[in-house]
Amino acid sequence: MSYTVEIRDIAKRYGKLDAVRDVSFALPAGETVALVGHNGAGKTTLIKLMLGLIHPTFGTVSVLGENPAGGDFAARRRLGYLPENVAFNGALTGRELLTFYTRLKGGPVSLILPLLDRVGLAAAADRRVGTYSKGMRQRLGLAQALIGEPALLLLDEPTTGLDPALRQSFYEIVQDLRDRGATVILSSHALTELEERTDRVIVMNRGAMVANGSLEELRHIARLPTRIRFHLQDGRLGPKQSWLGGLGEWRPVNGHIVELDAMPGQKIDVLRQAIQAGAPLDDVEITPPTLDELYVHFLRSQEEAS
Ligand code: ATP
Repeated sequence: MSYTVEIRDIAKRYGKLDAVRDVSFALPAGETVALVGHNGAGKTTLIKLMLGLIHPTFGTVSVLGENPAGGDFAARRRLGYLPENVAFNGALTGRELLTFYTRLKGGPVSLILPLLDRVGLAAAADRRVGTYSKGMRQRLGLAQALIGEPALLLLDEPTTGLDPALRQSFYEIVQDLRDRGATVILSSHALTELEERTDRVIVMNRGAMVANGSLEELRHIARLPTRIRFHLQDGRLGPKQSWLGGLGEWRPVNGHIVELDAMPGQKIDVLRQAIQAGAPLDDVEITPPTLDELYVHFLRSQEEAS
């Protein structure tokens, strides 16, 4: 299998500090990858290594089959990058800025207006960027990263400053790129919004990779319980709830909802048991471990192991 990105035993050292250490992973084409971790965990360092902006102290990085740290990194034209802090020359218009970046990348200028349209900036194309709002500048940054239909898109905290509607349209653009076969790497702290939008999650902690897999795989490894909430039909959690007896530990949420935890593989059993025992159910909510919970779990596991 050929990979868009292959990182092997990489380390990046600044003096005595290991910004990144012992990290290896491979990303196939057409995957959306969330790179998560606390401040200073090493996410931006990994992105910069993939872009060839910095060189590894140890290990190898391969991007689209080339070494980004090599002098002749031709695949650079097939990368899109949205830095954490986008800074543009405010005196230029959105259209002028994209023209500049398109020429740098060698792409067709005829695609600039469609690109501005794609990120919802067509109407502001001829306004100076200095007059743009933060969200508009962020969208311009995204348009800049999309120049030339990149095969690998690296987005460092891309949704910071975007309102909910723009976040939604941002993820639609990401989905569209992914469907066209691009690999998209998103570094973010917004775990809840990433949850159902990524194929893979890589968790970094103090320079080390502590988890790498799909949400399902991470849930399987972590073995955290799923929360089940029973809404009771008669609207009252009375003293006689004998059907709850065999279901293990439970807790009332309010007067008409009870909650219990089921380990992976036990959800169906718990539901079956409740129904067979005559539970007066009005509704059931099943919440698997969230990315937030998994993140905390993997961080704690590493802390305990070290
Ligand atoms: P954040 O979420 O805050 O953006 P991050 O996960 O992107 O954090 P990095 O920017 O990769 O973190 O930084 C990882 C570590 O490497 C930090 O301790 C940082 O201070 C250090 N570091 C990064 N760049 C340099 C540098 N040029 N010189 C010295 N230390 C650096």
